[in-house]
Amino acid sequence: KKDVPTSDIDVLIVGAGPAGYMAAAWLTRFKGLKVRIVEKRDGKIFAGQADGLQCRTLEVLDSFGFADRAWKDANHMLEISFWNPDESGKGVVRTGRIPDMMPGLSRFSQIVLHQGWVESYFRDNIRKYGGPEVEFSTMPERMEIDESAVDNDAAYPVKVVLRHLKEEAAAPEQFGHKVLNGLFRSANLVSEKEEDSGLAKEETKASVEVVNCKYVIGCDGAHSWVRRQLGFEMIGEHTDYVWGVLDIVPLTNFPDIRNRCAIHSAECGSVMVIPREGALVRFYIQLSEVERDSDGRVKRSKITPEMILAQAQKIMAPYTITYEEIQWFTAYQIGQRVVNEFSAHNRVFITGDAAHTHSPKAGQGMNTSMMDTYNLAWKIGEVCQGLASRSVLSTYGYERSMVAHDLINFDKKFAKLFSGKPAKDAADEAGISLEEFKKVFEQSHFFASGVSIDYNGSLLIAKPSPAVEDKYNPVRPSVVVSKCNLASNIPVGQRFNSFKVLNQSDARPWHMHELMKSDGRWRIIVFAGDVLDKPQMARLNKFAAHLDSDSSFVSKYTPKNRPRNGLFHFLTVHSSPRVEVELHDFPAALRPDHDYWSVYVDDMSFHEGHGEAYKNYGVDKKKGCVVVVRPDQYVSLLCELEDVEAIEKFFAEFLIPQN
Ligand code: FAD
Repeated sequence: KKDVPTSDIDVLIVGAGPAGYMAAAWLTRFKGLKVRIVEKRDGKIFAGQADGLQCRTLEVLDSFGFADRAWKDANHMLEISFWNPDESGKGVVRTGRIPDMMPGLSRFSQIVLHQGWVESYFRDNIRKYGGPEVEFSTMPERMEIDESAVDNDAAYPVKVVLRHLKEEAAAPEQFGHKVLNGLFRSANLVSEKEEDSGLAKEETKASVEVVNCKYVIGCDGAHSWVRRQLGFEMIGEHTDYVWGVLDIVPLTNFPDIRNRCAIHSAECGSVMVIPREGALVRFYIQLSEVERDSDGRVKRSKITPEMILAQAQKIMAPYTITYEEIQWFTAYQIGQRVVNEFSAHNRVFITGDAAHTHSPKAGQGMNTSMMDTYNLAWKIGEVCQGLASRSVLSTYGYERSMVAHDLINFDKKFAKLFSGKPAKDAADEAGISLEEFKKVFEQSHFFASGVSIDYNGSLLIAKPSPAVEDKYNPVRPSVVVSKCNLASNIPVGQRFNSFKVLNQSDARPWHMHELMKSDGRWRIIVFAGDVLDKPQMARLNKFAAHLDSDSSFVSKYTPKNRPRNGLFHFLTVHSSPRVEVELHDFPAALRPDHDYWSVYVDDMSFHEGHGEAYKNYGVDKKKGCVVVVRPDQYVSLLCELEDVEAIEKFFAEFLIPQN
């Protein structure tokens, strides 16, 4: 119709959950883009949902500048206790304690606070950097892709009709309970039809508009409308185990109530205890008796906080438990599925729970969802700004489908251990051995922390590609190969780890990650080696002279309206004694725009010890090396100071010259 408002935008984000907020925050750093984020709910309700923030997620939130808020507000989860049937089989007894996260993985440890707070930090951050406000009570009702235009950089090939809802229509159903609950969206207990049947009715509509988009990011959760429009399927299975979740301020004589606990009873199932912010504690409880309708579906309206608590009381006996306050409850059925495609034409992308679902107990969903859009949005940002070619976009599905499948495999093991019955003795093969449980838990630390992700070779990761290309998103292999032996602890494809170094100018210690903000820039980390050694300084000067030349990647790809370090951020770390070297000994190309925050040293600090960066990164103190790091902190390329040609070839594959 003629009178329907129509506009062109760069990116439409559908859904304001963790994935949507991360996408919006990241795209906000790419100035000049028109980005909108729509959310079908009214935005007024918030308690419950996800609560665990893993180390890697905190590193990323820190790079946006607000991990400190979460760190202060959250409960810090440091220890896990295992409780198992006692000898009589009638009660439970503590059988072991281990650290919740393996020490040394990250400068952060796991923390817990509810999803609503995390989302509010995002909203503040997006506002601070001039990004879009979430448009609540708004959902897409139609999407069409003009396939003839998908390869045209300048086109807006995705047409979306947006429906603005009447406010009362957007409030989620609470099933007659006074206590806030998440039953309206419980994983696997709600069908896709039920999820939006109310909102799809004609009377919910206040108005419509048309937006023509360059890109659409589907961040609309497990029942994703975007995914269904594309005809993509979730592949996998769901189990019959039904779990209840209770957020309460408990009254109990159980001694480990402020520890994370895995409690297995002999006959009544298991409980996972998660101490939360303030005096709140979350219980994940396996429900043994749930009412189902004739076709086997769990009756959501029959799930009550009382029945969840009654089950916990049985499992935790002889300890007693009740509560002085209840904040939220829900129930869900475990299912592990991954979408069969992550994007359509690299124009519409599926992310977060829309792309993978699994059980919540391992604390992965919110984290993985945010990391999906953290992987994707900078690539869209660079393409929309005309800095990179569209070829970089296919690395999203390539990299994240691998993570999604790893996550599902991990979750299957984890959920089975939690849902199974403890083995009665060594001969009980059907039961779960408690030793096995503890072992898998310990092994899971590395994966669960989020720091173990290792992207395969591609045009963005200079290492050999696996022999078989990912069938969904074939990507070009890298034209150069890293010299991985130059830094034994800087694995190409993994996130660049962080150790402390000192600023050459003022002796202040910094964690390397603190210097690597999420601002859309590539990092060129120059381990300059021993610069007091004349031949080594000559190597450094030669490298810098190339950077200064008109033919260097810095000159070619940095937009003319940006400062010299506007696309490539140089961080130099040398290994000579700090007091024997001056800042101005370093070539100007390595400290562009006369800044004092480009040159660092691996040396003893006055108050915070020695970061031992060269030793920890496994870099030779004499001759150093060069590391190219992506805007999302993943290592792309490792080479020697002489290998400027390799760096040139690497960037020439996907960056666009800015004449
Ligand atoms: P969602 O959070 O589901 O957000 C999707 C958003 O899109 C919603 O706001 C929805 O209203 C909106 N939307 C849907 N359809 C439309 C549409 N058509 N138009 C507009 N908007 C739409 N994860 C962890 O990492 N750690 C944990 O400790 C953890 N604990 C959990 C505990 C429980 C009880 C549950 C239920 C989940 C838990 N999870 C946890 C999982 C976590 O909540 C999800 O994985 C995460 O929220 C997924 O983020 P998302 O942004 O992809 O999707």
